[in-house]
Amino acid sequence: MIGRNEEVNVSQGIASSFSCQNNCCGPTDLNARMNPSTASMPINSNAYPFVSQCQSYTCDASSNYQYYWTNWTSAATYNWSSDNSSVASVSSTYVGNNAQVTTGSTGGTANISGSIDYDKNGLVWDPCARVYCCGVIATYTSTSNPPGQLQVNCGDTRDGLRTEYFPQNYGADFIPGCGEFTFGNSGDQITTHFTFGELNVRDIASNEYPNWAILRNYFLTAIENTRSNYNAALNVSPPGSAYRSPFINAILNPPGATNSRHIHGDAVDFASDSNTWDAIANAATNAGATCVESRQATFPGHVHASWGPSGTC
Ligand SMILES: [Zn+2]
Repeated sequence: MIGRNEEVNVSQGIASSFSCQNNCCGPTDLNARMNPSTASMPINSNAYPFVSQCQSYTCDASSNYQYYWTNWTSAATYNWSSDNSSVASVSSTYVGNNAQVTTGSTGGTANISGSIDYDKNGLVWDPCARVYCCGVIATYTSTSNPPGQLQVNCGDTRDGLRTEYFPQNYGADFIPGCGEFTFGNSGDQITTHFTFGELNVRDIASNEYPNWAILRNYFLTAIENTRSNYNAALNVSPPGSAYRSPFINAILNPPGATNSRHIHGDAVDFASDSNTWDAIANAATNAGATCVESRQATFPGHVHASWGPSGTC
């Protein structure tokens, strides 16, 4: 069958005509893809980072296929999904060829994928497969491969601090989301008796992301309860500490354990001496600490107490 057709791309104001040769038409290895293959967005935002495309072809004078990629123009037949909806979800709201992606408060990676069903909704004219050209109605489904990878960033210095949690760097066992960090200045009163500067003392001293720390709510309650049990002021200045970035934790001498609860934001070292060590340790135990490091390990300089899962320290 030999045919001629004209394609008009209204949105771009382009009209082109082409002819199909007998041996150069019909369903063939057309592919679908998402373009670009990677993109990045900040947390808590909306954007249209990916466009769906399918592979089209024309026939040259020698009846050879000439392939190229073109934007898929029938939004209703493109099905999008995300494999990590807490990082990014994808809706069916379209602007042009792009599906709307909405990011959450958790930084990370989401794989975005989609499929094209050429025949969905009874479409007959297919600008990608040009089925009219060849007199064949194609049913064609493809999942973009690989899926588009979306990197969701915090959009500030937390991104650098988060990379310290990548396991290949300091062996951390988790990667916090953007929303897990607390922003603070040194003098900010985080609880009744503890300031941001005390709880982030080592990172601040080293100018290591000094305005960001992980400080779990249950931890803040616990250290106030410890102080209440102790019935006197508690000191978190060195040799004490509370939050530590993975980098600061690693350069201590001796280094902190790679999965120390200090990098999780639920551990504290209260400064102590030979007169206060036992009373502080008891106060933390009575405040529900899941770990109080042994007297042998920390006496007399500090009392390490943490409130992580049982078995952690
Ligand atoms: Zn400690």
